[in-house]
Amino acid sequence: NIPTIYAITPTHTRHVQKAELVRLTNTFLHVKNFHWILVEDSEYRTPLVTNFLAQSGLRYTHLNTATPKNYKMKENDPHWLKPRGVEQRNLALDWLRENIDIATNSGVVYFADDDNTYSLQLFEEMRFTEKVSVWPVGITGGLKFERPIVGEDGKVKGWYAAWRPQRPFAMDMAGFALNLNLLKKYPNARFDITAKRGYLESSFLTQLVTLNELEPRAELCTKVLVWHTRTEKPKWKEEDAMIAKGQPSDPRVEV
Ligand code: UDP
Ligand code: MN
Repeated sequence: NIPTIYAITPTHTRHVQKAELVRLTNTFLHVKNFHWILVEDSEYRTPLVTNFLAQSGLRYTHLNTATPKNYKMKENDPHWLKPRGVEQRNLALDWLRENIDIATNSGVVYFADDDNTYSLQLFEEMRFTEKVSVWPVGITGGLKFERPIVGEDGKVKGWYAAWRPQRPFAMDMAGFALNLNLLKKYPNARFDITAKRGYLESSFLTQLVTLNELEPRAELCTKVLVWHTRTEKPKWKEEDAMIAKGQPSDPRVEV
């Protein structure tokens, strides 16, 4: 009985959302014992996501919570200005605490943003995690990759990162997974929406583990199995022009 992977994905409505969800689904369908927790950044669960999940073939939980207005990204904000997906991840953590009995279920929790690219191997690397496992993340932080620095003794000593490598856990959200039982052990552990830029991962992980306890994966952090890809915002100029003319495209066609 292999541990279940609970993947937590914050998601928000935008032109590329459905395409992103299709890409993720096509990956996740290949992963054994997988449970997707998709959390919409919205006041309600949208029909698009509801219908999408129902036909996905995945085991899933569909949640929603809207990011408080003062923290919400605006259309033209630079992408790093505000924290993203924070309250959605926290809601999913609470859902797991309330709904999954750790006495009868072994599991690992992973934060899988909707725009990244995940190899199948990644999920098997994280599957057996005692506390928190870590690995490199490709194309992130302005570098080819960021990764934990692993010493001769196989322990994490610090971080290979260009931006503030002195952060307690200087890695991307996609660079670690945790044992489900830590959520019960630390019932108040959560992401801090007020954390300084780049400190979101640290705000959570400092409540759960120490550097010395981290479990390096992906051949002692020498392999990249996940990529921090970002999807280009599509051009919508002609669509907007048609809307302005009172001739929008057929609204019955879901994209
Ligand atoms: N996200 C969200 N609400 C927002 C912006 C982003 O729920 O207002 C989600 C997004 O769908 C993704 C995660 O939060 O799963 C991280 O966002 P993004 O990929 O834009 O951040 P970046 O990769 O730039 O750190
Ligand atoms: Mn992203």
